[in-house]
Amino acid sequence: MNTTVIGLGKMGRALAAALVARGHDTTVWNRTPGRAGDLAVTNAQTAADAVAANELVILCLLDFESVVDVLDGVELTGRTIVNLTTGTPAEAAKLSALVTGRGAAFLDGGIMAIPSMIGSPAAVVLYSGDEQAFRRAQDVLSAFGDRRYLGAEPGLAALNDIAMLTGMYGMLGGFVHAAAMVRTEGVPVVEFTETLLIPWLRAMFPALVDMAGQIDSGDYTAEESDLAMQVANDGIGEVSRAQGVSTELSDPLFALMRRRVEQGHGGDDFPSVIELLS
Ligand code: NDP
Repeated sequence: MNTTVIGLGKMGRALAAALVARGHDTTVWNRTPGRAGDLAVTNAQTAADAVAANELVILCLLDFESVVDVLDGVELTGRTIVNLTTGTPAEAAKLSALVTGRGAAFLDGGIMAIPSMIGSPAAVVLYSGDEQAFRRAQDVLSAFGDRRYLGAEPGLAALNDIAMLTGMYGMLGGFVHAAAMVRTEGVPVVEFTETLLIPWLRAMFPALVDMAGQIDSGDYTAEESDLAMQVANDGIGEVSRAQGVSTELSDPLFALMRRRVEQGHGGDDFPSVIELLS
């Protein structure tokens, strides 16, 4: 299926290269000319020409505003617009209304990868929006990596994308706090990370599924490690302070855990804290 890619920044260029590598005839347009370099693609003169060239049009631009700018006044009838620009669920909904109102099918996507991963099985792209359009385009979209269709609501890909990043930043926050602690005693952070932290986190990962089950069921009854036990000793706070390490990252989390215990949920497991969030 011939394809158009609009936006040849770091990510857009990786997407175009993955399509070319799979043998798809690819037309590209970028605001600043010359970004295709030696890629075997057809360079369109304008965004409108690029959209006119193929039914399937993939956009990967800086932000929502740049997508709206680029599509302004462009004939979209009969096209399938796939927006792989990172955005919010509300922006995806606005874009969906704008695009479908002009006679095109719409898919929004969230890329869970960096450009060098595009085309490898490690890259995951989340999609939401028009299911028929996803089915028609999915062979082409498989050039980018694993693809997951999450549902017809246009904002679902963006919501899940941001939720996954939220999980990642929680882990990164824990990582830098732990590293800050061990380096106060001259422990090499790489050694600590490889030999102790990563195996520990790996051992903990499967517990997330059980915790997710508690959240889905609303039954947080703890079998092994209840919240009251977890907040009884302020080990992380005490050791951090003793080592001269800031507790700015862990304080908000432990404050929530303590609040939940004060509310009478000391016998609950950790995921019970979610009830203070939503
Ligand atoms: P870049 O900054 O490398 O590229 C931005 C692109 O947007 C360029 O093609 C730029 O054109 C274009 N652009 C910006 N403003 C406008 C505008 N007003 N009108 C027309 N074109 C415009 O960013 P990336 O390629 O890295 O990122 C693109 C999208 O991919 C972002 O939404 C990002 O969040 C997402 N993404 C990126 C990842 C990454 O690791 N890089 C990972 C996951 C998602 P020009 O060349 O003319 O400046």
